[in-house]
Amino acid sequence: MANYVEMWKELGMDLENHDALCQVLPTAFGDVYLSQENRPAAMDFWDMVVADIHGIRPAELIEAQKKGQKVFGTFCVYVPDEVVLAANGIVTGLCGGSQFWVSGGEKVLPKSTCPLIKASVGARLDRTCPFFRIADMYVGETTCDGKKKAWEILGKDVPMHVMDMPQMKREKDIKKWAEEIADFAAVVEKMTGNTIEPENLNHAIHIVNEKRKALARVYEARKAEKLPISGKDALLMMQIAFFDDPVRCAQMANRLADELEQRIADGVSVFPAGTKRIMVTGTPMAIPNWKLHHIIETSGAAVVCEETCTGTRYFERLVDESKETLEEQYRALAERYMGINCACFTPNTGRIDDILRLAKEYHVDGVIDVNLKFCCLYDTEGYTVEAALKEAGIPVLGIETDYDDADAEQLRTRIEAFVEMLG
Ligand code: SF4
Ligand code: SF4
Repeated sequence: MANYVEMWKELGMDLENHDALCQVLPTAFGDVYLSQENRPAAMDFWDMVVADIHGIRPAELIEAQKKGQKVFGTFCVYVPDEVVLAANGIVTGLCGGSQFWVSGGEKVLPKSTCPLIKASVGARLDRTCPFFRIADMYVGETTCDGKKKAWEILGKDVPMHVMDMPQMKREKDIKKWAEEIADFAAVVEKMTGNTIEPENLNHAIHIVNEKRKALARVYEARKAEKLPISGKDALLMMQIAFFDDPVRCAQMANRLADELEQRIADGVSVFPAGTKRIMVTGTPMAIPNWKLHHIIETSGAAVVCEETCTGTRYFERLVDESKETLEEQYRALAERYMGINCACFTPNTGRIDDILRLAKEYHVDGVIDVNLKFCCLYDTEGYTVEAALKEAGIPVLGIETDYDDADAEQLRTRIEAFVEMLG
């Protein structure tokens, strides 16, 4: 990593502890990513980002703050980035994906909290992640119980706005989410000092739609019989999409998609013919959580799609760009975001439809339904997911895990057996 020590010091980070994190990440990345063969050349961008993950983008955000821009940290794909961008603000994802931060979270949260929440809280309280130090405001949501309570703890440390998420998808719930988005817009205006007008909101909607289209192009390439990219590389692109500038994200994803489409035309694959195609469904995989993908792709199978928030839930469906008033635009945003199917909704039949559709579109041989330990929502919904897949004749393996590597060998044994069974 380049030398960003002064910047980290100014951010009030715990340098000694942070050094320990900086030491393990390059080895982990080398083992999981750089060991792959025949990777697309365009992955050089994401490799470069990871190599300086606590340097390059944080430095950009600090420069932007010096010029008067505000940074909003978010934790969920229901929070509309468009509203922040329209007020010339910047969004950065804050979900924690490393075991390194879990113990920090456990100092204030029950151990029986999902690792994503524990890691997010630990990253803030232990002062070992620059993104958590930089954000001027955090934006939470009332999706799951663990998060709701975590916001109360984090909110003591940093300005926090919580969006009240409906739990159902009736007309009145969509209307309510549109109102929540309007309230959020007022908070963003106050924080940034900028007014949101229909023109700048439409421009922001267009930017985020272009990003979604670019990410979707990469996923489209994964439907090919000869896979031009590994699941691990696609996951990395998705994980960094939460942190990056949306215009650059779209440019880089389009550049990658160009290369993947050329690879498909040339018949280039990163896996041997006949490799079993796996779709991963379930809880999100925040960076640097590469554990499951790495195990699957070193157990004789390939991940071709993720039905997760670090996968299709992030980019599927566009926001209508034809609306002319703020009220209509907030409604259009609400309709698009309420189309995401997270297990926090009931009933959530749309998610089952998505999974069955994606299994067909990506020609999957089997599904691995993954649940982060102590996520009651996805764990419970796993029953319905597995039943629907079995009924459709699609083999499924349900897995519960966390960020710790202690269960890695046990998982490998189960996944190898599952892949062999697909054969
Ligand atoms: S799993 Fe649900 S709560 Fe978590 S990021 Fe996705 S939509 Fe938000
Ligand atoms: S994985 Fe489950 S418990 Fe964890 S933050 Fe997401 S919805 Fe909440």
